[in-house]
Amino acid sequence: MKYISLTLLAPFLLSCAIAKNPVSREETIHPGEVKWLEFKTTDVGVKLFCKGQEVKVEAHKDKAQAIVIESYFSDLQPFTCSLKSNDQVLEEVFFKVVEKEYKAEKLKVDSKRIALSPKNQKRADAEQLVLNKIYASSEPRFLFTKAFQEPMNSVVTSVYGTKRVYNNVKKGQHLGTDYRAAIGDKVPAANAGKVVFAGDLFYTGWTVIIDHGMDVFTVYGHCSKTLVKEGDMVERGQLIALSGNTGRTSGPHLHWGVKIQGQYVDGFVLIDETKKAFKE
Ligand SMILES: [Zn+2]
Repeated sequence: MKYISLTLLAPFLLSCAIAKNPVSREETIHPGEVKWLEFKTTDVGVKLFCKGQEVKVEAHKDKAQAIVIESYFSDLQPFTCSLKSNDQVLEEVFFKVVEKEYKAEKLKVDSKRIALSPKNQKRADAEQLVLNKIYASSEPRFLFTKAFQEPMNSVVTSVYGTKRVYNNVKKGQHLGTDYRAAIGDKVPAANAGKVVFAGDLFYTGWTVIIDHGMDVFTVYGHCSKTLVKEGDMVERGQLIALSGNTGRTSGPHLHWGVKIQGQYVDGFVLIDETKKAFKE
């Protein structure tokens, strides 16, 4: 039969008239990057789902805010973030993931320096367990109301994402930003937050970790001295440590890491995104 009966179509047409189409928009993200999302909504009970997983969202009376990330190790698959109220989709953001070429850095090192002794391996593993716990218990609200800023006004000696080739073999990637620094240079906090770690670690030496809330953390490594303690609330720009060359390093510098939702991402993109969000 060529014509579909109107009686059969009626329930479908009716449901289309009732269900409001969600607002939708498109965004582009690259591996290792973050996106600050804002939604206009007065519903304080909204939830956000990206790739089918719940992502923390902070809902206010007039808007909801969230940070979305794409892993450095992305499979480049497009994905959707849906803002939901109960089971109703209020808004959808379609993300296109576009490949990004990260530079490679060739390093020549003594092969003995690459392998860890059993004792050091044991220490590094034990510290990892402590860090995992810290990263799993972020404050459930954004602890900052301003944009992120660079932790040092100095030359960047290694950018985020640089592939590291040791003795002509790719051994990994540098998922932080390195700044040129002497022993004893001032290290200020990139933004307001709560100090959740201040101590000595095998890889990053004397280290400060700040929780900025909603699974956003910054890490300051290879310091000569830490000037804050766990539980301290810090402001953006507050002096938290002095730079140095502790831990596994070939010379004094500051290693700045940004970890969001369990992944190290590019701190410079976080700075740009929050500058736009807070109109700075
Ligand atoms: Zn580094």
